[in-house]
Amino acid sequence: MSVRFDIAVVGAGVVGAAIARDLSRYELRVALIEANPDFGDESSKGNSALMTEGHDTPAGTLERDLVVRGYQRYMAEAPTLGLPMRRTGALMLAWTDEQRATVEHVVEEAHADGFPRLSLMEGEEVLRRWPQFRPGVLAAAYMPDEVIADPFSTPYAYVLDAVTNGVIFLRPWRVSRAERLADGWRLANPQGETIEARLVINAGGLRADIVEGLAGYADFRMKPRRGQYILLDKPARAIHDIIAYPTPTPTTRGILIAPTIFGNVLVGPTAEEVEDRDDRSVTEDGLAALKRAIDEMVPVLRDMPVNTIYAGMRPATDHSEYQIIPRFAENWLTVAGIRSTGFSGALGIAEYVMSLVFPVVFDLKPTKPLRGVTVPDLAETSLRPWADADRIAADPAYAEMICHCERISVGEVRDALASPVPPASIKALKRRTRAMFGRCQGFYCGARVQAMFDAAQAERSGCEAAACGDRRDA
Ligand SMILES: Cc1cc2nc3c(=O)[nH]c(=O)nc-3n(C[C@H](O)[C@H](O)[C@H](O)COP(=O)(O)OP(=O)(O)OC[C@H]3O[C@@H](n4cnc5c(N)ncnc54)[C@H](O)[C@@H]3O)c2cc1C
Repeated sequence: MSVRFDIAVVGAGVVGAAIARDLSRYELRVALIEANPDFGDESSKGNSALMTEGHDTPAGTLERDLVVRGYQRYMAEAPTLGLPMRRTGALMLAWTDEQRATVEHVVEEAHADGFPRLSLMEGEEVLRRWPQFRPGVLAAAYMPDEVIADPFSTPYAYVLDAVTNGVIFLRPWRVSRAERLADGWRLANPQGETIEARLVINAGGLRADIVEGLAGYADFRMKPRRGQYILLDKPARAIHDIIAYPTPTPTTRGILIAPTIFGNVLVGPTAEEVEDRDDRSVTEDGLAALKRAIDEMVPVLRDMPVNTIYAGMRPATDHSEYQIIPRFAENWLTVAGIRSTGFSGALGIAEYVMSLVFPVVFDLKPTKPLRGVTVPDLAETSLRPWADADRIAADPAYAEMICHCERISVGEVRDALASPVPPASIKALKRRTRAMFGRCQGFYCGARVQAMFDAAQAERSGCEAAACGDRRDA
């Protein structure tokens, strides 16, 4: 017998998580289904975490509307979820007359499109305020409302809120078969488990085309686009603390240099179409392009210590527009192709999905109250637990350092492991706490963090570590 849901959201990336969170306000049985052991482990884990107000999306598109709305909602709702943000602002810089003309055009267009706070800043003023840039800046488009945010805690907050409000989070649960029923779908995983749902929402991100194929749809083809990064260590932020974009060309938006919410500086991403959606290699060419970007924009960062290098994968398709396709006669809604703006757009996309589903599929209003879920604030510029005397006085576990690079305490790791949506892998635990994110990448603290993780796993599976040992011995 399959468990029956009203709605099954396939995919717990930032988009599926935001949709599940909004659905949790309705009196419905909702399942959020994720193939990986944890949420946000595909496209949503490797982005620049810029919360953009939307002027850089193509005018007149659904993407523009939903990113604008996503940004507005994030500004209003992120603080209530405990999510940190920093309004660092951004500059799009010009060093040549041709680039200056482009930058002037970007500002004019933004004003015409309803973004009045963008302004043209002369090069002298740019270099007076941000002397780190390569000399010779002629002008810049200044964007004071661009924000950096937490890429990992954001989907966590959405999932936690959804689950606290009654959504069933199934993981790891890869949908490998979809069978059409008279009033919905039966979904199966490779283990032979099944669920039924009246409506399926495919938010499968990088693999949305495969999920579509299971139901017999083939409206788009994935064209995954890799983005490589260099993450510079903490001292770089003392030099560079604003989002810096090069002037875009007709073929690329270029590589940006931006602070992260965790106190590092990010250089990237590259934009390369790749055949294999799982090929997150960092290449010699990629690194050369990233280093060139440093030389061209902020050469003083050239000798900064590197924390790590990595790549993310954009879930782009052969269409430039988002692929949000209602097929309600067939009880299916596709929410795919959220290529490079899904972090900013997720709450706008979720709201749009609600407007499609209600009242057309379910004639309901959102009646369930907010539960006031909050996630730990991991921002480097917020009051960190190690520096919070009151918190330490109440619980000394916040003074016992486990990760010395990022200054993460035993108390924080313990809290993360006790979450109602506990991390299901050591990498997920890393993303919830910042432990092992630092300069040593877990070399010093990895074993101890792993031991805490293993102990929590053992306890959860109803098997105290000691008892497991006894049973193994027997
Ligand atoms: C390099 C890079 C930089 C970016 N920078 C920014 C930025 O600064 N700002 C911004 O707004 N956006 C940015 N983005 C875009 C943003 O990250 C994406 O738009 C967003 O993560 C897409 O989320 P998603 O939920 O659609 O997809 P995903 O994160 O891929 O989630 C889909 C989920 O579906 C699950 N799934 C797939 N198939 C199945 C199945 N059969 N059964 C069960 N589950 C399944 C997957 O496991 C996955 O967890 C960037 C992206 C990249 C790669």
